[in-house]
Amino acid sequence: MMLPGIHASVSGGLNRALEVLGSSGLPCGQIFTSNQRRWKGREVKEREKEEFSRTPISVISHTSYLINLASFRNEVRERSFLALSEELLRMHQLGIHWTVLHPGAHLGEGDATGIRAVAAAVRSILQDAPPDTGVLYENTAGQGTVVGRSFEQLSDLMDGTGIPGRTGICLDTCHAFAAGYDLSTRNGVDMVMEEFDSVVGSSRIRAFHMNDCLGTCGSHLDRHARLGGGLLGLDPLRYLASLEDFDGIPGIVETPGTDGDRVADALALTAGEGVSRG
Ligand SMILES: [Zn+2]
Ligand SMILES: [Zn+2]
Repeated sequence: MMLPGIHASVSGGLNRALEVLGSSGLPCGQIFTSNQRRWKGREVKEREKEEFSRTPISVISHTSYLINLASFRNEVRERSFLALSEELLRMHQLGIHWTVLHPGAHLGEGDATGIRAVAAAVRSILQDAPPDTGVLYENTAGQGTVVGRSFEQLSDLMDGTGIPGRTGICLDTCHAFAAGYDLSTRNGVDMVMEEFDSVVGSSRIRAFHMNDCLGTCGSHLDRHARLGGGLLGLDPLRYLASLEDFDGIPGIVETPGTDGDRVADALALTAGEGVSRG
């Protein structure tokens, strides 16, 4: 069984997110360590380091939405370098090992160029970053010129970056479905995950984003829905969460609404043992 978790709001501070996770009984969670819509990074406070060093909850972070390493255009690239480097430093201070990164948009330069740009940047950033930190590439819905929409592209990103112990994949179910991977049935889950295994390798998945999806399969629309409120439905997501291959892997819910709504979704994902392998 995956470990259920939520993306917890940090609007009340990083420690508030730990309280929400702790009081809901969830074993893991995801946070932004800094404002996700600003370039300027936030400093980690002493009492946050203390709380994070004490917590039994396994926490991953999500990088800023502004970061785009898939373009060679200089200004955004330089800012993105700095923002990801600072993210990895804050993670080290908080004892967080993994951050989820959107690979980025090539803005017309082409997929192969975009993937090469991301992989080269992440490789260089990781080499200078604290060794206890790593980057998880998140698959995308394939909107616009974003890369990371297919399993082949994820594999190219991983291979291009190298440093396999410090890179991995965060597989988002909504993005995969919107990108054309039909996860709306148990059979579909089996077939898609088999394909992932043969193209990328299941063991490279270190986290899931377990989201239902408002857009149709192949629509490239990145619109998350509450679990059971979209076109995937709760049953295939529960089935995916129950697969032995992903025992102990965080399954983070990033659905709309409040932290409380996401907690309810995360608990629904793994509630009971009654998910039969149909
Ligand atoms: Zn996601
Ligand atoms: Zn999304």
